[in-house]
Amino acid sequence: MRIDIITCLPKLLESPFGDSILKRAQDKGLVEVNIHDLRAYSNDKHRKIDDYAFGGGAGMVMMIDPIANCMEALKKDREYDEIIYMSPDGEQFSQNVANELSLKKNIMILCGHYKGVDERVREHLITREISIGDYVLSGGELAAAVVSDAVIRLLPGVLSDETSALTDSFQDGLVAPPVYTRPSEYKGMKVPDVLLSGHERKIQDWRFDQAVERTKQRRPDFDKE
Ligand code: SAH
Repeated sequence: MRIDIITCLPKLLESPFGDSILKRAQDKGLVEVNIHDLRAYSNDKHRKIDDYAFGGGAGMVMMIDPIANCMEALKKDREYDEIIYMSPDGEQFSQNVANELSLKKNIMILCGHYKGVDERVREHLITREISIGDYVLSGGELAAAVVSDAVIRLLPGVLSDETSALTDSFQDGLVAPPVYTRPSEYKGMKVPDVLLSGHERKIQDWRFDQAVERTKQRRPDFDKE
């Protein structure tokens, strides 16, 4: 899989992709993440990428020209399955959307800033708009990192334990059961006996029951039937 992220603040994306699981996934060649600095595609001598909004009002708007230039350059080399604009009014991101995107080969993600991008970008250059929640961020970079992280950890081989992603919350319509590690007793707080029993079957049953119970309590909206 290849993810191309277009941003006017490339530095903001260095750390999320430069550490831990996302870094290892790239080192292993399981995903290629490329960050593109929008300013490099500006025709303006000051590398301008935004301008005042027509009709007035506060806030700058990202211009179509640099964005189109960057997208065209990328599309010359390969076809994209999705060209995503991160946007607070987009389709709500979820585990289902992450699962779906994890099956794609080439994804482009455009990060907005300021008041957002010229509407013509959204109308003509984008195939999909995704929001990570009903709140407004100052830029699309953190949102793009959230989407990329959720997608990349699903790619085969990225997580060391093959089944790990499958037993996470949401994958089976259930939230995850509680987990514990050593010590088995801390200041009088004990780990449930069953987890120390070594009885595989009982442990599985306990985890399933806990997941069902937690889902009922925390996410009654998950009722699948
Ligand atoms: N004026 C816009 C908000 C712009 S915020 C509005 O009211 O809808 C600047 C940029 O941050 C957006 O262009 C988008 O790329 C990103 N962004 C902000 N909130 C987001 C969210 N909840 N999900 C995804 N991207 C978001």
